[in-house]
Amino acid sequence: MPNARRATAGALPPGDPAPGRRTGIPRAGRATNGRGARARVGATDRNGFRDLRVLDVHKSFGESKVLHGVDLSIDSGRTLSLLGPSGCGKTTLMRIVSGLEIADSGEVRVGERLLAGPGVNVAPESRRIGLLGQERSLFPHLSVGGNVAYGLGRAPDRATRVREVLDMVDLAGFEKRMPDSLSGGQQQRVAIARALAPRPRMLLLDEPFQALDVHLRLELQAEVRTLLGALGATAVIVTHDQDEAFVMGDDVAVMQEGHIRQRGHPSEVYGHPASPWVASFVGDANFVPGLGSGSTVATPLGNLATCCPVSGKVAVLVRPSHLRLVAAAASGEGDVGATGQVQAMRFYGHATECRVQIGDNVLLARSDRMPSVRVGDDVALHYEGPPAVAYPESSMAGLRRDGKQRREAPASPAR
Ligand code: ATP
Repeated sequence: MPNARRATAGALPPGDPAPGRRTGIPRAGRATNGRGARARVGATDRNGFRDLRVLDVHKSFGESKVLHGVDLSIDSGRTLSLLGPSGCGKTTLMRIVSGLEIADSGEVRVGERLLAGPGVNVAPESRRIGLLGQERSLFPHLSVGGNVAYGLGRAPDRATRVREVLDMVDLAGFEKRMPDSLSGGQQQRVAIARALAPRPRMLLLDEPFQALDVHLRLELQAEVRTLLGALGATAVIVTHDQDEAFVMGDDVAVMQEGHIRQRGHPSEVYGHPASPWVASFVGDANFVPGLGSGSTVATPLGNLATCCPVSGKVAVLVRPSHLRLVAAAASGEGDVGATGQVQAMRFYGHATECRVQIGDNVLLARSDRMPSVRVGDDVALHYEGPPAVAYPESSMAGLRRDGKQRREAPASPAR
């Protein structure tokens, strides 16, 4: 997506201040992650955040249909990760929520207020939605105070409000500092303060950590997660990184080709994916053929218990970390499992991955211990996971045995 279409922190002018809330945030509570990100919020005051309801939103660009009747709801004070591959429509959906794009049909509500719907289209600057884009989105020529005040217009309480929100993100006294004198984490907190300044009803964070190196990204994810929770913010975090989605969201909504395929707690989405595609998008996956009968399924790995009743031909999800690999000679007689040959090994330090050829299938096994085998060795694989999740064989159409989309074979060159 071109950067010009990305949300930038505080890019929208403020909406009307909430009635009766012109002087800011009570400071009864203080939350901390122990590493600096602290938000002072009142125990009962949740800073005016509201819930979000998106109902049956459709959007096409010309002939190309991008959103197919999307429903999405987030309760006040919760954070939702909107996760999906590039081009699935995440940004389009967020632009519709923020008013930068108009849906063909459907509704958007924040709290009781209808922002978009039949005959209604509230202007972006009046929606009171705070936007944060990538981390380096502060204006470099403006001080911290200037960045935070940007978007407050000529509001009479500008200076007070800047102090309040800097205090909320634990940067009191930083008004005169310039962005390039701050750490990445401090810059991120200034960006959040800037988005908070006009008292938004919710926050949209579009790939906020995309430009960062992995260490800073992990640090900021934890910091921002804690801060959003402490602020009681209703927030959507758009990402195509499944780890980030799981770390950041109270809930995750997985989007594919303009549809929300699954919505739930991260452990539910990972443990009980709604489809083979979701399973492989949120983590590494093997699918082995099975024949279901009630609460068990016969597979090349032996008879496995299933989480739900199954019958007929199925594809069984096997996470690589649920496979224990042992040298064939060490596998006890009568042990349930499959035998095969190690095709490839990768050592990551914290884990080792082995690709094992079993009949026509290659299964990926991952262990946090270094298995005492080498490429070419005969090995046995044992399933050691929770009751297995199985899908009708037909749901694998178009997918490889690791659940990834099959690529169309390139057309042969004309002779
Ligand atoms: P990414 O993670 O790469 O940002 P995304 O999931 O946010 O992707 P969108 O940016 O919403 O995806 O784009 C969804 C589809 O809509 C893409 O095919 C994109 O090319 C198309 N699209 C988005 N905006 C426009 C536009 N203004 N005109 C035409 N097509 C558009």
